[in-house]
Amino acid sequence: MQEILKNYINGRWETGTTVGTSENPSDLAAPVAEYARADEPQARLAIHAASEAAGTWAASTPQRRADVLDFVGSEIVARKEELGALLAREEGKTLPEAIAEAARAGQIFKFFAGEALRIAGDKLASVRPDIDVEVTREPVGVVAIIAPWNFPFAIPAWKIAPALAYGNSVVFKPAELVPACGWALAEILSRSGLPAGVFNLVNGSGRQVGQAMIDSPLVDAISFTGSEATGANVRRQAVARGAKVQLEMGGKNPLVVLADADIARAVECAINGAFYSTGQRCTASSRIIVERAVHDRFVAAMRERMKQLKVGPALTRGSDIGPVASRQQLEQNQSYLQIAHDEGAELVEGGKLVRCESKGHYMSPALFLARPEQRVAREEIFGPIAAVLQADDYEHALALANDTDYGLCAGICTTSLKHASHFKRHAQAGMVMVNLPTAGVDYHVPFGGRKASSYGPREQGRYAAEFYTTVKTAYTCA
Ligand code: NDP
Repeated sequence: MQEILKNYINGRWETGTTVGTSENPSDLAAPVAEYARADEPQARLAIHAASEAAGTWAASTPQRRADVLDFVGSEIVARKEELGALLAREEGKTLPEAIAEAARAGQIFKFFAGEALRIAGDKLASVRPDIDVEVTREPVGVVAIIAPWNFPFAIPAWKIAPALAYGNSVVFKPAELVPACGWALAEILSRSGLPAGVFNLVNGSGRQVGQAMIDSPLVDAISFTGSEATGANVRRQAVARGAKVQLEMGGKNPLVVLADADIARAVECAINGAFYSTGQRCTASSRIIVERAVHDRFVAAMRERMKQLKVGPALTRGSDIGPVASRQQLEQNQSYLQIAHDEGAELVEGGKLVRCESKGHYMSPALFLARPEQRVAREEIFGPIAAVLQADDYEHALALANDTDYGLCAGICTTSLKHASHFKRHAQAGMVMVNLPTAGVDYHVPFGGRKASSYGPREQGRYAAEFYTTVKTAYTCA
């Protein structure tokens, strides 16, 4: 193993108070890295550095910001294979998925390099004589970024890049499962020409480092992606002290399959949406709602297709489904298999622990026939486990799709323009897919949901400005 990966605080690489080990879920005998774990005082140092540097970066020119972001994006894209291999080893998604994620992270930085040049305002005539009104956007200040483990490059990228593009300073805490990916991003940012303190990496636990970020009066805004329970706590505490907060949390995303759908295509949408990335996507298609007329045919086709899926190490060519990211997540998945069984859901296929050449957290994707009230059909599992629900007709399918506490993404497979158009209007979700998997989005348009899935302004695309800037209205009398 190489040297211990350090934290990046105020332009310097710093050791932590303890050392942690990052596991390789495909091969538990070959850990990825050792990393410096920070504690609360060290997190406070990083926050203080970001606060001291905020004014300098807020005053930087759009060109300087664009140059920094373009440097970072270009390097990530150029190194996508190498970074993808690191991501595959640390998080467990398959190498093609990991390379695609690395490339996307680079594209996000390049997109926001352009946005830094396009920070626009409005100039209007006043309703009163001889007065002009200007509406401009200014940075919020210090942004704390608390990221999950399932997209260790893309999610930090879509938070860090707009934060810097709009002139904020950043303290970034990766999830403890993926410190090496966080470090790799920080290492590139450390060579990008940012002034010391504008970007800081603090690896450590949510309870210590994350909590210090939530508590600090120097942190003006918190962008969080993760579980609903942690998100609710972050929101409560951040709102109580008046910090701006943005949360992306879970999903229980429906994919509706109507009787007029191209069934082969619907099966591919369901397989991809439910099981790729080992089902560890907040946009995963975990409720597949099928119209009765094609239910049995669809389920039989899913079973056949699932038998072809190869579960294996993330770096092995031909693996379709990598390992589950952690032992804790595997245990959560297994507990849901038991819950589904106990509640009377019928297992169609999968749900077995899989032995591979190396010891890791492997399981085969599982599909259940379930009823809407069963927990396997209601709760976010965050693993390769999906439930099929039967619907009488389109109206029933739409009602089932909306019968959830969540509202991140909703999909429909149909050849009917009428039903596709109606679904786009009436699905209670922030994102809607027609004849596509619920997972898999573009990086230049808004991402986010409704109900328990999200809180605060949308992420990504030009809509990111809503969170990462504050608006000022200025009046001038000639
Ligand atoms: P968490 O919500 O616990 O973690 C997300 C981030 O928050 C991590 O960086 C974590 O740090 C941090 N965190 C944890 N506790 C606190 C705290 N008290 N204060 C501040 N920050 C904190 O999710 P997990 O990663 O543990 O995953 C658990 C479940 O969350 C999954 O099984 C899944 O259901 C869901 N999830 C949903 C995601 C989504 O995109 N919708 C993404 C990831 C998970 P640390 O690494 O130290 O825990």
